[in-house]
Amino acid sequence: MDSSFAGKRALVTGAGKGIGRATALALARRGAEVVAVTRTQADLDSLVRECASITPVCVDLADWPATEAALQGVGPIDLLVNNAACATLQPFLEVTAEQFERSFDVNVKAVLHVSQIVARGMKARGSGGSIVNLSSQASQCALRDHAVYCATKGALDMLTKVMALELGPHQIRVNSVNPTVVMTDMGRLGWSDPQKASTMLCRIPLGRFAEVDDVVDSILFLLSDSSRMTNGVTLPVDGGFLAC
Ligand code: NDP
Repeated sequence: MDSSFAGKRALVTGAGKGIGRATALALARRGAEVVAVTRTQADLDSLVRECASITPVCVDLADWPATEAALQGVGPIDLLVNNAACATLQPFLEVTAEQFERSFDVNVKAVLHVSQIVARGMKARGSGGSIVNLSSQASQCALRDHAVYCATKGALDMLTKVMALELGPHQIRVNSVNPTVVMTDMGRLGWSDPQKASTMLCRIPLGRFAEVDDVVDSILFLLSDSSRMTNGVTLPVDGGFLAC
């Protein structure tokens, strides 16, 4: 993906590890001014050591007032990647209220909140923008022990579509990427057991999990002008899993 993002300001949530970190670095390499938001200061310290131009913001996005305060001073944003999420796996009959609330707070409510803050600025400036939400193949396909995670990503897909509907007239595009398994910390949680992994791999026509860069390239495409007429889509990055 060769797009230049020179002159653009981007905010990436969950930028401390995994897909979010790689997205923040890829945007910075392509000329964007990047604001990296996550909740572990040590991850931000190492990110800034790796790329000094990145502006770090440390906040737990599940905390609404703290997020409001932390993002107050970040300045105008043209590109937003709502990437932060949590996944805790349990059989359906063992899901607790706390797990449900925490997951929806981070995976859905924080996306709505950060997007409101950023899109209000985009609308006021009349400059348009592009927002990409990190959803999952789990939004559209039932996975064992993933009741809450699947439900949050299903909700996120609909949030993406309504945001696209309401923000489109302000030239703000909103799309999601829906990856299959990626072997980040989160991916390893559910799929490092080779036997379990093989049950998923055999349902992916391309026969492999996604690499972090497979997902980053699709995020950059949706952020860039190359996708200027694409709005409200949930783009699988799944080697064909959802097609079968
Ligand atoms: P990781 O767990 O590797 O990284 C998630 C990042 O988000 C971490 O830096 C984490 O910080 C941060 N984060 C989590 N909760 C919060 C919070 N409350 N406030 C601020 N930051 C937070 O995840 P991935 O890179 O694997 O996943 C990125 C996105 O891709 C997620 O939305 C995920 O659902 C989606 N996805 C992932 C797949 C996979 O197999 N990996 C497959 C499909 C979709 P900390 O470590 O400090 O908690």
